[in-house]
Order: sequence, then structure tokens, then C-alpha cells
Amino acid sequence: MKRCDHCPSKPMAALTFDDGPSVHTVRILDTLEKYCVPATFFVVGNRVEEGSGIIKRAFDMGNEIGNHSWTHPNLTLNSLTPDEIKKELNDTSSALQSVTGVYPKVFRPPYGAVNETLKSICTELNLPIINWSIDSFDWECKNADIIYKNIFNKLHNHAIILSHDFYDSTADAMERVIPELISREYQLVTVSELMQHSGVILEAGVVYNNG
Ligand code: ZN
Repeated sequence: MKRCDHCPSKPMAALTFDDGPSVHTVRILDTLEKYCVPATFFVVGNRVEEGSGIIKRAFDMGNEIGNHSWTHPNLTLNSLTPDEIKKELNDTSSALQSVTGVYPKVFRPPYGAVNETLKSICTELNLPIINWSIDSFDWECKNADIIYKNIFNKLHNHAIILSHDFYDSTADAMERVIPELISREYQLVTVSELMQHSGVILEAGVVYNNG
């Protein structure tokens, strides 16, 4: 993907997509490709094998690929031991590395759920924790018009926008959201790029909600 230099005087945002890859990821990638912009995909480990071709395409296009656990449990519930949590994260990172050749640098906890145990495990595994500042609520409404409004009602500079590459309605919404962000002069960047441009050095075990 051809990438333009970023202009510090213009606003910036990072689109993030969780829970994939799925059949809907392809159309989101097509839209990103059409407008020559990247996003960040937080991938569920047990979907990596089946979706390896999609993940490889996303990575080769210049998108960032992050870790979203292996089975998508709430990692703050007592049902998992620290060793089981580590396995959720390590297995996913290894699976992603086997597809992209790169060990993921960012982690998003399922449901955005974080506690002290998870933070200390992420510190040990060298993973910064990336949550969001704008929830599109696509998982709840499954309606492209509402997803669009949810994003633009709360849009702000250096936003991290949460959606899921898991719904047809999200792929529909992105065909309008992405060109509209561009027409508002928003520069779309990956999470790591957003942090870099914000002067934030990502630290393992620390939660980030925006750039
Ligand atoms: Zn999720």
C-alpha cells in the first residue's frame, strides 16, 4: 500500500477492527485498499488458521495486526489461571507471527476488560493494552446508519475507534465512514502510528484509550 506522509497539523484517527478475521473482513480490506489507508485488526487466535490468507493480505497491505486472545474470554474473571491467560496471549501471538512473520506489538483484551492481574501478565509478555475512545456499538446495533452516527457524533482528534470485522453492517458502514473521515481531512493511521505521532511511547501492561 502506498502511504502518504502524515501532516501533524491535520487530525488523525485509528480505525480498529476486532474479533476477525471473518468473511466480512475482505470487504473492509477492499475499502481500505480503495482509499489507500490502514487500520488495525485485533485478531482472535483460534480464527488464525482458517483466516490466514485474509490476515496475510491485511498485513501485506500495511495494516497492523494485534492480539485479541485465543478464545475471546473475559480475562478478568476468576475462571482462568494466570498460566491459562498467558497461554491465551502467547498462542495467539505465535499463530500471528507464523502468518505475518512479525510478533504482535499490541493487545486488546476481549470486552476491554482489564484488571491488575492482566496488566502484570501483559507487562511480563511485553504487550501494551489498547482499548478505545469511540465505540461504534456495531456489535449491538448491527445497522450501518447507526454505526456511522455513533462514530461521527463522538469523532475527535487522535481517536481510537472500535468496530468489528465480524458484521455485514460494519462492512457497509465503512464504505461511507472511511471516505467521510478523509473528506474531513482525517489521516487514518494504525494504532502504533497514532501513538508515535502523539509522542506516546507504548509501555507493556499500560492501558491506552486514545493517542
Ligand atoms: Zn472482541
